[in-house]
Amino acid sequence: MTHRLELDHVSISFGSTEVVRQVSFQLPEGYIGSLLGPSGCGKTTLLRAIAGFEPLAAGSISLHGKHVSSPKQLIAPEKRRVGMVFQDFALFPHLSVTDNIAFGLSGVPSQQKRQRITELLKLVGLDHLAHQHPHQLSGGQQQRIALARAMAPRPEILLLDEPFSALDPELRGQLATEVRALLKQDGITAILVTHDQTESFAMADQIGVMHQGSLHQWDTSYNLYHHPVTTFVADFIGRGTLLNITVADKNSIDTPLGRLSGKLPEGSEAGLQLKLLLRPDDLHLTTKQDGIQAKITGRLFQGADYFYTLQLDSGDQFHCLAPSHQQHHVGDSVTLKLDIQDLVLFSDQGFAL
Ligand code: ADP
Ligand code: MG
Repeated sequence: MTHRLELDHVSISFGSTEVVRQVSFQLPEGYIGSLLGPSGCGKTTLLRAIAGFEPLAAGSISLHGKHVSSPKQLIAPEKRRVGMVFQDFALFPHLSVTDNIAFGLSGVPSQQKRQRITELLKLVGLDHLAHQHPHQLSGGQQQRIALARAMAPRPEILLLDEPFSALDPELRGQLATEVRALLKQDGITAILVTHDQTESFAMADQIGVMHQGSLHQWDTSYNLYHHPVTTFVADFIGRGTLLNITVADKNSIDTPLGRLSGKLPEGSEAGLQLKLLLRPDDLHLTTKQDGIQAKITGRLFQGADYFYTLQLDSGDQFHCLAPSHQQHHVGDSVTLKLDIQDLVLFSDQGFAL
């Protein structure tokens, strides 16, 4: 199968500093990918390399099966047919909405041009604003026009760099969901760069978590949450706690929450010290007598539920969620029931076993 985009051990350096290290992933046609990670981890640099603005120190990038970047070769950005959308909407202030979108279509016969603009304005739901100028539009509307302009020439791939970060937080998640639907309707392959996991989750089919220039995991949101491959991903995605545990025998471990059984990695010997990932949804408060005793040391109201911080006699802390109509207070002693599907264990070096 030919992928729309393929990165093979891509490294990028500025001077002697390597800021992207050995990154590989593949994105099939029509899929939406996302590069997710903290500020400064190399997301924008990688996106700029895909667009053709940064040369590679090692590895290769292919678009539709054709090599476009390697240390020896750099096909110019305008020959790659990539579309780009950035944080600062970057519309032309002196042009109407229609003319802004038309800008991406220079050289297209006028009849076709009109048709495509009408189609895109309908798609982004702003056909009533065709003759307005950017300053007459809200931030969300401007960003939808910037998106329409980038989609207009039907790029091989659309690259979106933090396109929602200048918008209100409430608008962001909503727009991410809308943009996903628009790209899917138009069959466009895209990559979203963001530091915000809710945007990645709302928009992408596949997400790559980056840290200090390395891609830790390229996977679905479900797998990033439930099967993180490093402690960095476990910590960065969702909420959770890493507990120190000791292997007791072939199929059980000793944890601060007591002995747990489950499938252990091949060759785990008794006495081996590992870390166990505990998600807030792995624990439930119960009114039954038997269970794990803990004290509530913090709580956060989240609407539908409370996010509780709990502490054991041993001093170990972890979290759990409970419906907000059953209120518990800081200082209360509670009983917990564990409901762990799989034991997600990590080595001392931070790798999943
Ligand atoms: P992100 O988009 O994930 O926030 P960037 O790709 O912008 O991260 O930056 C990654 C690293 O590369 C940072 O340490 C940044 O300072 C550095 N960097 C980015 N662009 C340049 C440049 N043109 N020259 C030198 N260093 C750069
Ligand atoms: Mg960036």
